[in-house]
Amino acid sequence: MKHPFPFDIIYSRRKTVAIQITREANVQVRAPYGCPRSFIDSFLLERQEWILSLLEKAASSPQKTRPEIPEAKRRQYIETARAVFTQKAAYYARIMDVTYRRISIREQKTRWGSCSSGGNLNFNWRLIFAPEPVLDYVVVHELAHRREMNHSRAFYRIVESVLPDYKESRKWLRDHGDSLWDAS
Ligand SMILES: [Zn+2]
Repeated sequence: MKHPFPFDIIYSRRKTVAIQITREANVQVRAPYGCPRSFIDSFLLERQEWILSLLEKAASSPQKTRPEIPEAKRRQYIETARAVFTQKAAYYARIMDVTYRRISIREQKTRWGSCSSGGNLNFNWRLIFAPEPVLDYVVVHELAHRREMNHSRAFYRIVESVLPDYKESRKWLRDHGDSLWDAS
């Protein structure tokens, strides 16, 4: 059964099913161990209107604190990022005729990507919440460092030859990069 909102089910040694809307507007269903999925589905269905109205309220009230991402979700995002960046790096490296060694996925507040002198690439997994051209830009940027280990005009000419609109993505990162830390 498909519900009009995502939710997590948290099983524990409780006796009843309960729904909780977190401050980050996530729906959490608390259920006893062994509770059948069909029961949870109908439980949610009966309260759908109520849940949707709470979600609407939560979404319209400004958030003061950044949401904590549960570890399991975070690991999932990191794996997604690994798959995305592996694929994009391979794609653009061929176009740009450059090589690289290892790809690592990092979480650094101040960095979206980096390229070591040995050719290892690092990418920030938070980028998966950015528009796709921004991901492409960060990949092409780091790969361009395989030719120019600086941010000279020659470096940006390489970037521009692959992504003529790269300045828009660079601007997006400057203007909105910070918001990626709020996404989850
Ligand atoms: Zn750079």
